[in-house]
Amino acid sequence: MDQDTGDAEALNHDERYSTATTVEDFRINLAEVNRRIESAAVRVGRDAAEVELLPVSKTVPQERIRQAVAAGCHKLGENKVQEAFRKSGEMADLDIDWAVIGHLQSNKARDVAKFASEFQALDRLKVAAALDRRLQAAGRSLDVYVQVNTSAEESKFGMPPEELPGFLRELPQFSALKVQGLMTLAIFSSDIARVRTCFQRLRTLRDQAQDTNPELIGRGSLSMGMSGDYEVAIEEGANCVRVGQAIFGKRALPDSYYWPENS
Ligand SMILES: *Cc1c(COP(=O)(O)O)cnc(C)c1O
Repeated sequence: MDQDTGDAEALNHDERYSTATTVEDFRINLAEVNRRIESAAVRVGRDAAEVELLPVSKTVPQERIRQAVAAGCHKLGENKVQEAFRKSGEMADLDIDWAVIGHLQSNKARDVAKFASEFQALDRLKVAAALDRRLQAAGRSLDVYVQVNTSAEESKFGMPPEELPGFLRELPQFSALKVQGLMTLAIFSSDIARVRTCFQRLRTLRDQAQDTNPELIGRGSLSMGMSGDYEVAIEEGANCVRVGQAIFGKRALPDSYYWPENS
């Protein structure tokens, strides 16, 4: 099960994810995801109200995003800054909070500071400093999650777990950044046990941070889980699940476009 990119592909381009093209389709998909969130929470004795569903609209065109908003989505996750920024302009007439959930280069910090309400992939001080500078200038603040690499060799994004405590200690100097907790991408695998291990690592890191310096980690929220694994993530303590395809339908672009290290 080591080099199972074929299986991971199947997991991420599952034929179950038919394309939602009406408001009613979105209502049905959202109801189904919410039902599954509820059952996963109940299975482990959690309250589903502790779990935020963040719909991920990357690659989805404006017309269909408008349907999703009509069906009740008011916060949307986007992986790429340019795409998110463009959409926020196109849909400025709607009441949408934009969460940037993908890797950011510090030269794009200015754009994020303009429109995003949340950034989930903070993993370098250089980016933190650039964001803070732009946000201070704009008189804004930004909710952030620190992205941790819980799958070791499998991904180049997110910081190594051992660097997290030192990183958290540096963040208070950037007062426009409001730390909400930790984010991770699990390993791309159909082996649920290995996926679950990634989620458990993130929870352990959060628990350790809360034991040593609770003031450094905000609410200590855990953003983990996507269409293929959000129920497992909830069983392991997720407070935010980032779900794209199970709501919008399968994507035309391969995931390697968003996670170049997997190509
Ligand atoms: C695309 C994406 C998701 C959602 O993936 P789906 O398979 O569509 O649910 C979650 N997190 C990040 C960082 C993403 O880029």
